[in-house]
Amino acid sequence: MNPFVVSVGANLGDRAAALQGALNALIATPGVTVTAVSRVYETDPVGGPEQPAYLNAVIAGETSLEPHELLICAQAIESEWHRTREVRWGPRTLDIDIITMGTAQLTSEVLTLPHPRAHERSFVCRPLLDVDPLACIGDQSVAELISALSMHGVRLTDLALDAGRGER
Ligand code: ATP
Ligand code: MG
Ligand code: MG
Repeated sequence: MNPFVVSVGANLGDRAAALQGALNALIATPGVTVTAVSRVYETDPVGGPEQPAYLNAVIAGETSLEPHELLICAQAIESEWHRTREVRWGPRTLDIDIITMGTAQLTSEVLTLPHPRAHERSFVCRPLLDVDPLACIGDQSVAELISALSMHGVRLTDLALDAGRGER
């Protein structure tokens, strides 16, 4: 079993339902065990066209899946939520990005690990700090990363994802 961290984000439709749906689907995925779920943050969009605010969270766990297999699962879950890709960094019903899989470093046509932009994103690093204060993205600790990032535009919500709702 290898550790994994994914970030989930949504800014179209029922954002909270999409994040909960992503969590449920990951819990229900054979070979995936979810061990920690962050709090839910509302975040201002970064990059892309003008668009609504996001809900973001981070989910951590362990998996027997290979990185590319986990990517396929993540993309299948996005599709269930009718994720479309019209504009780069455009609004979306659900985005699931693999942030890290342990210390794996990997670059293929479809997958880069660690996620190449995660370290500069407060909407990833802030929830990552919730699930694992000792987490690293590449050679930088999340605590270190957080101290260098502005938290402007990242607001804690009182929403909570329920890790007990996966159908096994
Ligand atoms: P960003 O990657 O900057 O967060 P995005 O999430 O909006 O942008 P997507 O349209 O979801 O981008 O994905 C574009 C492509 O990125 C996917 O087809 C996927 O193959 C590739 N990709 C590369 N590395 C990763 C990763 N670590 N996690 C998820 N997708 C990845
Ligand atoms: Mg993304
Ligand atoms: Mg993505």
